[in-house]
Amino acid sequence: MEYFSKQISEMIDEFSRLPGIGAKSAQRLAFHILHMPKEDVKRLSQTIYDARENVRFCKECFTLTDSETCPICANPKRNHRQIMVVEDSRDLAAYEKTQKYDGVYHVLHGAISPMQGIGPADIRLKELMTRLQADVDEVIIATNSSLEGETTAMYIAKLLKPTGIRTTRIASGVPVGGDLEYIDEVTLLRALEGRTEL
Ligand code: ZN
Repeated sequence: MEYFSKQISEMIDEFSRLPGIGAKSAQRLAFHILHMPKEDVKRLSQTIYDARENVRFCKECFTLTDSETCPICANPKRNHRQIMVVEDSRDLAAYEKTQKYDGVYHVLHGAISPMQGIGPADIRLKELMTRLQADVDEVIIATNSSLEGETTAMYIAKLLKPTGIRTTRIASGVPVGGDLEYIDEVTLLRALEGRTEL
């Protein structure tokens, strides 16, 4: 990339470290930004920095939020006795978009994957068990239908068995290996409505 001067090359290099950004996209982004008004660039970089500085885990559900408790957990109108377990905050957003789920969530931040050396202690399972000491009517396991997601679902089901809490799994209308965030709302709703007892 020696045909670009140092600072331009560095910018392209930074962008190409981001997920899904190849060399071509990195160049396009860098040149787009170099043509933007300085004020807009300042706002963009400030927004990114502020979010990184302030965003943390919700103390109840562990989703990413910029306050101690996320807006869903802080909402008294939500059913706090129904907990949907998802792999990450993007899955939570996918279910929120359906506007049909009024329970709360628990974000694991990953899934069990022996292949990648990710075990039960590496995701937020202990925190889920702690939450279940309060009154809970149902735990809906909405991990992805990938191998890792299914492994995690089975592990949680086994963990919950002795608690006697109703444990359900979303229907497999969700395509195998499908990332929840890419599935349309109708499919998600159908998966939720068709959930089965574990
Ligand atoms: Zn929360």
